[in-house]
Amino acid sequence: MTAFNAGNVSYKFDYRSTNDDAWYNCGIVLDHEKQQLRVKFEHFKPIENDEVFSITDFKDQDQLDEFIARFRPVSLVLDDNECSRVIEGMTVCATYGDEDSLRYFDAVVDAVYYKEHTAKKCLCNYMLFWQHGPQEGNITATKLENISLISYGVDDLILSEFSKLVEENLRGKSSEFFLIPKSSFLSKITSSNETLLPQEFGSVGHSSLVGHSKGKERFFLELSDQDRDMGGVKETGRHHYIILENLERDLCPTLMMMFIHEQTEITAQAYVFPNLSMETYARGAIVVESKSNLKRLYEFINNPNQFIVSSTGRPWVIAEDKHRIGNFKTNLQGLQPRVENVNTDSELKVVWLGTEEYRNAKQLKDLFIEYRNHLNGLAQRLEKEEDKVKKKMKTDSH
Ligand SMILES: [Zn+2]
Repeated sequence: MTAFNAGNVSYKFDYRSTNDDAWYNCGIVLDHEKQQLRVKFEHFKPIENDEVFSITDFKDQDQLDEFIARFRPVSLVLDDNECSRVIEGMTVCATYGDEDSLRYFDAVVDAVYYKEHTAKKCLCNYMLFWQHGPQEGNITATKLENISLISYGVDDLILSEFSKLVEENLRGKSSEFFLIPKSSFLSKITSSNETLLPQEFGSVGHSSLVGHSKGKERFFLELSDQDRDMGGVKETGRHHYIILENLERDLCPTLMMMFIHEQTEITAQAYVFPNLSMETYARGAIVVESKSNLKRLYEFINNPNQFIVSSTGRPWVIAEDKHRIGNFKTNLQGLQPRVENVNTDSELKVVWLGTEEYRNAKQLKDLFIEYRNHLNGLAQRLEKEEDKVKKKMKTDSH
């Protein structure tokens, strides 16, 4: 899968086809007149195999987000001496099928059996747990030559132009819904502090047209394309967010935003919630503007091969429990981000599997999870006891 130019089409994407759900090398062309996006496949004859999308094909922002998530940069093919870059837990793109019908699907590396070999010919074996395609849910063995590394983050002019057209079309359509002013729920914060990149919330507000059905907070199950714990990932209206725990208490939200942007190129808004004095950690939230960005962010934070840690080695943990579904609006309005002092002493970094720092972070995370499980148990017990008292109060009053 390599990128090259044929005519004026640049085959620079991997695209997950709506026909068979496999990844193909493709390029895109925007037909302004017809307001259509044509997806052209590199290894197929044109026209009959193109997938064509009209701006009117998208009923809402979610459908558009899902469509955009079908594109990513071309995956990276590895040389035989690079086999150690493929590690357990990593999601890769891999070929499946015989030579006549070779197709690409995503799979998680379930196990790696490295073997001693020369730089010219990798002899290692990889067990892949397929995420989609004909082997979905199965584990099969494969060789390095069938594996490529996934690249993330599509930044393409044609694609964003098409998105814009679709969004304009959606805005026209949803004019029957009531309007929420741009950045309304955050206006307090943004107006009180100019340095807080207020335009970010303008872009959250490209969803400033909110249909009635979107107003309720709800869990976000369609993200869990495998059996993942997706708790802590929530959506309020059009605000997609992740709740984090085990943050440094003096962590600066601006630092979080800068770090996320540096690592993922995602523009996010970050919050650190006030903690109780007995707590050794703080909670926080990261808000992004689209579901696809949320998914990427989730994958970045939850990548099993890495931890995000502070300078003391404390790892970020995604909140999992269902007890903390609160009204996000209310929570945010009470917060004043501490932008004025970006604490230069504090730092955030990624630590990788196989390092001492990773092992330390793992130990700290395990400790935190144990503590949290304990806490959840106590919360459940409290609820039961409270119920008993309430029931007794009811019967007493009769
Ligand atoms: Zn090898």
